[in-house]
Amino acid sequence: MSKRGINTEPDRHGYFGPYGGMYVPETLMAPLHELAAAYQRIRKDGAFKRELHAHLRDYVGRPTPLYLAERMTREIGCGALYLKREDLCHTGAHKINNSLGQALLARRMGKKRVIAETGAGQHGVATATVAAMFGMECVIYMGAVDMERQALNVFRMRSLGAEVIAVTAGQQTLKEAISEAMRDWVTNVRTTHYILGSALGAHPYPRMVRDFQSVIGRETRRQIKRLTGALPTALIACVGGGSNSIGLFHPFINDPSVRMIGVEAGGDGIRKGRHAARFAGGKVGILQGTKTFVLQDRHGQIQLTHSVSAGLDYAAIGPEHSLLRDLGRVEYAHVSDREAVDAFDTLGRWEGILPALETAHAVAYVIKQAGRWKKRDVLVINLSGRGDKDVQQVAAWKEGQRR
Ligand SMILES: *Cc1c(COP(=O)(O)O)cnc(C)c1O
Repeated sequence: MSKRGINTEPDRHGYFGPYGGMYVPETLMAPLHELAAAYQRIRKDGAFKRELHAHLRDYVGRPTPLYLAERMTREIGCGALYLKREDLCHTGAHKINNSLGQALLARRMGKKRVIAETGAGQHGVATATVAAMFGMECVIYMGAVDMERQALNVFRMRSLGAEVIAVTAGQQTLKEAISEAMRDWVTNVRTTHYILGSALGAHPYPRMVRDFQSVIGRETRRQIKRLTGALPTALIACVGGGSNSIGLFHPFINDPSVRMIGVEAGGDGIRKGRHAARFAGGKVGILQGTKTFVLQDRHGQIQLTHSVSAGLDYAAIGPEHSLLRDLGRVEYAHVSDREAVDAFDTLGRWEGILPALETAHAVAYVIKQAGRWKKRDVLVINLSGRGDKDVQQVAAWKEGQRR
């Protein structure tokens, strides 16, 4: 870290250090440059900021609370554990912060149709929701396997007026859904904006999504200072593509006293095809527009991934995370399916809050470290989403263990 701290802005080609960029076919270059230019114009525009802020407040329900989890604090033996309650956002997860920002941008760009990919379904629901509110046509691409795992969210999207298209290529999960959405975008770019759901993909998405999610960290910073008079000791968040984590971390990146821990999906073990922990088993490569850590074999073939949580089940991680890892600014860990499912139950019993299975990975990490936390430690877990969508998945997982 230099004296001036870490530079978190990508260069004009979208690179965070050696990571990021725009690795897309020629046909996507013009739309991406158009988007980057439009975003660059509005990001400092006062009217846009006010419009976004009003919707975040009155529609999403921000600011979300920073909740002192007293029982969990006692159980794990730290000074104080706070939960940043993104699960209380309208639609039940942080995803809507980004969908709303991008939908407003799309409207400014004169686009009347939005498309999105979705894994767990949370991003699809968030996008379908804001599209309904703004009266935009909405198409969601979803892997057929994920549609089965997350049937409730498919029903929600359709009820909100979105068309949900099943993607049956390859592993039939998030990666294939992103490819289909990109194909649609190339064809319909004149009328259509592609609302990418995580801090992933080609420039300008990783930076734009991070900016829209940074409202989480900005609020947390204000709230924790008011509650404790100081900055927290550590921030903990689960990392799929990396948007809820970077949203929490970003406003603290240049506060060296604040530890940051990103928790990936360890699946049922760090063996080929059985997990989605990119920093445990991945190498630098290129996937879907960006250069970053990717789970791949010796020949650069993308590996199969596995996680009990659909939202963490992806072979690449957002490029800014790769830089933060190289710099040693953020620590990355992973927990297993079993530990995540246990944490899902435990948080329910300790605090009366069922976390999303994705979020349960962050909770599990903190529980695993119980006994190592000190009395002076003030921890913040980003409670990225609620667990209602996952109750069937948890029941099926437990059933599978018995057999
Ligand atoms: C989608 C999702 C995630 C993972 O995505 P990130 O971009 O890494 O935040 C985590 N938690 C919940 C609740 C989600 O819906």
